[in-house]
Amino acid sequence: MMRMMPLMAPFSARMRRMLKDIQRLKSMVEMIDHTQEQEIACDEAFHLLDEFTDAVLRGEDTAELMPLVKHHLAMCMDCREEYEVLLKSLKAAQD
Ligand SMILES: [Zn+2]
Repeated sequence: MMRMMPLMAPFSARMRRMLKDIQRLKSMVEMIDHTQEQEIACDEAFHLLDEFTDAVLRGEDTAELMPLVKHHLAMCMDCREEYEVLLKSLKAAQD
């Protein structure tokens, strides 16, 4: 390792951290870009949740009908909890 000049050291460390942050950000953006086509956000899933739950209750094939919502529910615990509460209350209302 090369010895750094004392005055330069703090700056370099900050720069390195910044570069790391930028790199992390870049890979995050790439990840989002990559997955965008087949994934929806929580608010979108939430909007479709009623429809999705209805389809489930009708015994329809949600993997075929609403694969994005199904996929999101498999990935996202928050929305899955929301869905399970909704499903339970709709089932209770049916009985
Ligand atoms: Zn979600």
